[in-house]
Amino acid sequence: MKKIGILGSTGSIGTQTLDIVRNNPADLSVTALAAGSNINLLEAQIREFRPQYAAMWNEEAANELRIKVADTPVKILSGMAGLIEVSTVPEIEMLVTAIVGMIGLRPTIEAIKAGKDIALANKETLVTAGHLIMPLVKKKGIKFLPVDSEHSAIFQSLASAKHDTIKQIILTASGGPFRGKSAHELAGQTKADALRHPNWTMGQKITIDSATLVNKGLEVIEAYWLFGVTAEQIKVIIHPQSIIHSMVEFIDRGIMAQLGTPDMKLPIQYALFYPERKPLQGESVDFLAAKALTFEEPDLDTFKGLPLAFSALAAGGSMPCVYNAANEKAVSLFLEEKIGFLQIYELIAGGMAKHKVILNPSVEDILAAELETYNYINEKLMRKV
Ligand code: NDP
Ligand code: MG
Repeated sequence: MKKIGILGSTGSIGTQTLDIVRNNPADLSVTALAAGSNINLLEAQIREFRPQYAAMWNEEAANELRIKVADTPVKILSGMAGLIEVSTVPEIEMLVTAIVGMIGLRPTIEAIKAGKDIALANKETLVTAGHLIMPLVKKKGIKFLPVDSEHSAIFQSLASAKHDTIKQIILTASGGPFRGKSAHELAGQTKADALRHPNWTMGQKITIDSATLVNKGLEVIEAYWLFGVTAEQIKVIIHPQSIIHSMVEFIDRGIMAQLGTPDMKLPIQYALFYPERKPLQGESVDFLAAKALTFEEPDLDTFKGLPLAFSALAAGGSMPCVYNAANEKAVSLFLEEKIGFLQIYELIAGGMAKHKVILNPSVEDILAAELETYNYINEKLMRKV
């Protein structure tokens, strides 16, 4: 029986993780849950899964939840201290980081320090602090398993391969809802348009990131840290059917790929049970119905989310944090319908242009770079009004 904690249990990845727990009651049990402010769903999860700890980011929500579940033995925590406590309690063996955004940074680092295995969905954390996290993972000897479908595919494709036999990593991207559109056409796209992803049902932030290709940019940086390759060894190709989840080419030109239907349960379950494989209900790939698997070059002139990520990676240090922080802020403004779609790119590029890189930044430097980026965006938007 593996005891797990889930940061972001009320979200898309969090609820799918709980589906897997529900289907494997003899193998998995939930010891800690955490969410932002969704009291009702967290209450229902507490009643069903009986964790010992639960945390809400929002203090008022935590107080309300404490009253609602007073008839259960669960301990309710709140704020950053609460997120860190649920990530490090002695009882949990593995933490599923399914929280959205770089708010996951400190809890993830503390969980690794406490020796917890990590199933990582929260890519923003690795993007901003890969240089701190990966050495810590090595030092503590914990398992650090990707949940992101592309990275799970690469991890599965690498199997027992020797690291120096990797020629390149081929990250696939669906291209999102705006594939094939020009910059002119992108300008008028609304929140509703951008939230209509062709293949995957996910949280709002990552769905917008998929439309801008910032998600693929974050994934390039995520792959850089997870697999220890150079930026030049990471190639992105558009594969609209989302059947090949990613591939690895070796020095002898042999290619290993992992294929499947677009269903996050497989990479989540793979991380939870690694190195075992377990049965998973659902549809298998129907190659005859799919007919063709197609590939395209990404349009880097229009979808600037991707080239900006490569620039951030080349600049190094605190720049990937600025790329990510500017995007987080810009996406929340876009979701509030305060800025247009193309302004997301403008704000990321502007934030990066203004930032002076700090090499090998500490957690405090990273949080300061985040704040500096938020201030830059707030001031820029105020000047416009
Ligand atoms: P959702 O928006 O669906 O869920 C986000 C979760 O984080 C919710 O449980 C939310 O709680 C919680 N949360 C948000 N802010 C805080 C906070 N300050 N403190 C505590 N909890 C908080 O996101 P997704 O599940 O789509 O994505 C989660 C992560 O997984 C992201 O990093 C994403 O990039 C990554 N990912 C997601 C995929 C997907 O298919 N969805 C695929 C690959 C990666 P509440 O509900 O209370 O707001
Ligand atoms: Mg992905």
